[in-house]
Amino acid sequence: MSTSPERIKCLIVGGGPAGYTAAIYASRANLQTVLYEGLQPGGQLTTTTDVENFPGYPQGVSGPEMMMQIREQAGRFGADIRFGSVSKADLSQRPFIITIDETHIIETETLIIATGATARYLGLASEEKYRGQGVSACATCDGFFYKGQEVAVVGGGDTACEEAIYLSNICKKVYMIVRRNVLRASQAMQERVLNNPKIEMLWEDQTKEVLGDSSGVTGALLVNSQGIEKKIDIQGFFLAIGHIPNAELFKPYIATDELGYIRTEPGSTKTNIPGVFAAGDVQDSRYRQAITAAATGCMAAKDAESFLSEQ
Ligand code: NDP
Repeated sequence: MSTSPERIKCLIVGGGPAGYTAAIYASRANLQTVLYEGLQPGGQLTTTTDVENFPGYPQGVSGPEMMMQIREQAGRFGADIRFGSVSKADLSQRPFIITIDETHIIETETLIIATGATARYLGLASEEKYRGQGVSACATCDGFFYKGQEVAVVGGGDTACEEAIYLSNICKKVYMIVRRNVLRASQAMQERVLNNPKIEMLWEDQTKEVLGDSSGVTGALLVNSQGIEKKIDIQGFFLAIGHIPNAELFKPYIATDELGYIRTEPGSTKTNIPGVFAAGDVQDSRYRQAITAAATGCMAAKDAESFLSEQ
């Protein structure tokens, strides 16, 4: 255990587009910025292949490469980017006391939480094997690679419906694999999905295995509620069974919504605790894009800067 705590003005937790962008703005504003990247530096984008919808990359860019560039950009202005994770947070008073990897203690005037969210997967070994080779948890990111092909979306919520509709504009056919005989999604979304001729509903089906070969995913083996198995031929297997916001550590202090996402004041990144801001997917169950995460990272740094100047 290190004895003397480190005292700083701005601590950013999370090494995704939100955290790195917050670091660019905070370090340029001379906020004496430290960023801890967590266990997955680069965030969810490091699990994707090409990013084609982030402005400024007309030819597209690989997810990991883009994250390295944003990280480098933050470093250029003096952000101190470190490997490590928050193991404890005491937000009961300012400065906030944050413990890193159970050893290093930081006292910070402001805290930007940009810890992201983790997509839920079914937990199948075959799903893990073909992750990035046909298995994806983001249709907006990867759908384009399945142009004219057949794909499946797992889930029956608004995200699954939205992803199925998105994919139906690109792909030849979209199966929706729904474990119950009803959709959880809003009525409007249900109608759009059920009236879409390219989407075929597979009710009361669960995925037993994702099938594939050296080229990637080739199909899925499903089992229905009577235990009857069937195989579908697909090239893309999209999970849309929800995300888990990485907010657990801060929950004793920070208000979250019913799904566990950090609540922020509309139009800002302010949380219920003055001096604590949240950016990116940890506070966004809806858009979940790199560009929106980056934008809220910028907002969080500017909110932190205003907060400090008002003190
Ligand atoms: P939800 O939790 O709403 O839905 C998850 C879906 O995945 C459910 O149909 C659930 O089935 C299914 N599921 C969960 N686990 C498994 C599993 N192991 N195997 C098979 N299926 C599984 O998550 P969403 O991401 O869809 O939505 C999150 C929130 O964001 C919601 O409040 C939603 O309304 C909102 N949202 C709003 C949008 C909009 O307004 N345009 C767009 C996207 C999201 P079951 O129903 O049986 O539990």
